[in-house]
Amino acid sequence: MEKWHCFKDKVEMVKGEISLAYLGMTQDIEGLKCPKCGEAYITAEVVKTVNEGEQQLEAK
Ligand SMILES: [Zn+2]
Repeated sequence: MEKWHCFKDKVEMVKGEISLAYLGMTQDIEGLKCPKCGEAYITAEVVKTVNEGEQQLEAK
């Protein structure tokens, strides 16, 4: 897995739980956080999972 760096601080992001607001719900998912400024990023893998969930919802 590729390493992510904070765009602001140029430090390596660390894994952690981040809150994602999605479709009116807030979910705690695994993402990446900057240990310095606290900026949170979700990974491409997580985005893919969310998109798949969206397709399932739309199919109903
Ligand atoms: Zn940062």
